[in-house]
Amino acid sequence: MKSTDRTKNTFAITTPLYYVNDLPHVGSAYTTMAADALARFERLRGKSVLMITGTDEHGQKIQRTAESLGRSPQAHCDLVVPGFEALWKQLDIQYDRFIRTTSRRHEYIVKEFFQRVWNSGDIYLNEQKGWYCVSCEEFKDERDLLPGNRCSIHPSKEVEWRDEENYFFRLSRYQDQLLALYAERPDFIAPESRRNEVLSFVNSGLQDFSISRVNLEWGLPIPVDSSHTIYVWFDALLGYVTALLDPDSDPMLENALSKWWPIDLHLIGKDILRFHAVYWPAMLMSAGLPMPGRVFAHGFLTKDGKKMGKTEGNTLTQSNW
Ligand SMILES: [Zn+2]
Repeated sequence: MKSTDRTKNTFAITTPLYYVNDLPHVGSAYTTMAADALARFERLRGKSVLMITGTDEHGQKIQRTAESLGRSPQAHCDLVVPGFEALWKQLDIQYDRFIRTTSRRHEYIVKEFFQRVWNSGDIYLNEQKGWYCVSCEEFKDERDLLPGNRCSIHPSKEVEWRDEENYFFRLSRYQDQLLALYAERPDFIAPESRRNEVLSFVNSGLQDFSISRVNLEWGLPIPVDSSHTIYVWFDALLGYVTALLDPDSDPMLENALSKWWPIDLHLIGKDILRFHAVYWPAMLMSAGLPMPGRVFAHGFLTKDGKKMGKTEGNTLTQSNW
């Protein structure tokens, strides 16, 4: 597996940080087993390996799920997370770090990173209007919706109209730098079909995206304005960085980045490709950090042509394996 430096003897690999609105299912197990196999392979080759997994615990969907179950969001996360740890144990996954985005150490890393991006002049306040899929935690283009204002990834869910003031990240500023990255490093995104998808998305023009929410308590406060919380994706991607901290080192970017950065491989499902192959490198450019080695996006496990997952309720969970 190519990384930025062929001679380096470390290999850091991540699974997605799984969203804890429900118990783990076969889709999350698929990615994690693949990451585990790659990590074992690199260990056999004599490399020093760090395999990272964990849970993404903020956002509207978690808050709503917790409310519907009569729990606080934190209590909900604390109930669900052990299910992931138990499943990875049952599957004999040899991960080295399990990062929870509700950890105190993560909050420090997010604050420091936010400040870097803020200092770069890449964050500004503006009006956000558009259709929001709570299951994706993402604004959707109207042209991508299914009839009845439904999300194409979650056909059973209607998107919601939002009209609010948000902080935005200046993604548009990074269009040329991203295209240069994809050109210089043709294997940055794999497989090729996914790379082409990203190229066509970025070539069609990038719009700034909102990185804060109002009226949503379950998130990290925006350092410059506590009436907003940080958009769950901005926070979750940084979990990969927090996970690099040695357990006994202070939660500072400098410490997190000292040994394992850049991460060699982000292994993900294709539904979160845009976040990892477009938003994430742009955020890193803004913060002045080197790029990860590669983003590899696999396809979905499907049932009757639909993505297997929690939202559609058509997946296999531990209880029915
Ligand atoms: Zn969706």
